[in-house]
Amino acid sequence: MPVLSVVIPFLNESGSAARLADFLRRLEAEIGSRFGLSLETVLVDDGSHDDSIDAYRRHLTGNWKIAELSRNFGKEIALFAGLEQTSGDYVMMIDADLQHPYGVCMQLIEELVGNPALDVVYTVRDDRRQESLKKDLGSRLFYWLINFQQRYRVPENAGDFRIMRRRVRDALLTVRDKRRFNKGLYAWTGFRQKGIPYTPDERIGSASRWSRLALIGLSVEGITSFSVIPLRIFSIMGAMTGVFGLLYGLKILLEVLFHGIDVPGYPSLMVAVAVFGGFNLALLGLIGEYLWVGVSEAKNRPLYILRDIHTPDREETRQ
Ligand code: UDP
Ligand code: MG
Repeated sequence: MPVLSVVIPFLNESGSAARLADFLRRLEAEIGSRFGLSLETVLVDDGSHDDSIDAYRRHLTGNWKIAELSRNFGKEIALFAGLEQTSGDYVMMIDADLQHPYGVCMQLIEELVGNPALDVVYTVRDDRRQESLKKDLGSRLFYWLINFQQRYRVPENAGDFRIMRRRVRDALLTVRDKRRFNKGLYAWTGFRQKGIPYTPDERIGSASRWSRLALIGLSVEGITSFSVIPLRIFSIMGAMTGVFGLLYGLKILLEVLFHGIDVPGYPSLMVAVAVFGGFNLALLGLIGEYLWVGVSEAKNRPLYILRDIHTPDREETRQ
């Protein structure tokens, strides 16, 4: 019987454990009868400090395991840890907060299982209604930067909520990047992919864990680990201002030669100092970001550390 593995990273989600367990039971029954698939649930505890593990232990049934990380490593790495634990022919990734509608999950499974020409079916969020224009412009700029002059394209607003064949899971696991930008990795690995739009449900439990600052951080991480374009823009700007400076210097020289010395031009001096000072600082920061990518890779630490693996059988023997 082919197996569908579902990977679910969680951080302090005890509030939705019972609902998630119901969700999984329903899924198990339906994929069994419709597609002849059996279900394997792989949860990843990304450093929760509530009683999430106990809550899941109480409610989950069937074939499940929880990989407990030694601390919070972030959702991207938690997903990687979960992928490593899967043994299924298909792997689907969903959130623990039930924002991914049941119907869309079934649709993902149906699209992939019924279509040997596809390797991945991903979802694209289409609820940009509440989001401000500023954020929208920011995200456009982000996708433009990241996709500029690349051989692959990162689709806008495609998330981790997706299903893939085992070969794609294997490919993702061969990428050992320390700074993991999943959206970029999914595109980079290639394969035959298809996107379907969906509208996420309301979150159950506490608020989303992504602050705006965290989103900006993730964007910088994505750009610096996937695109060299920002550096190139600064190189070109630097070269252009350099040429401009030379020409301007030449003009001043000629003026001095033909008209004698004259000292107006204090404002233009200040402008030049401020502009070049600003460019320099910005570029130094940017180089620092890229350098940090290099340093993180060079340290060559493991991606995450496992504290324990919980399974139904180990319930009694647990201390
Ligand atoms: N999550 C995680 N580690 C983190 C942050 C979040 O494993 O450091 C989990 C979280 O429990 C949820 C999923 O990742 O299952 C998505 O998180 P959230 O709902 O906060 O993000 P959003 O839905 O706003 O993208
Ligand atoms: Mg959520």
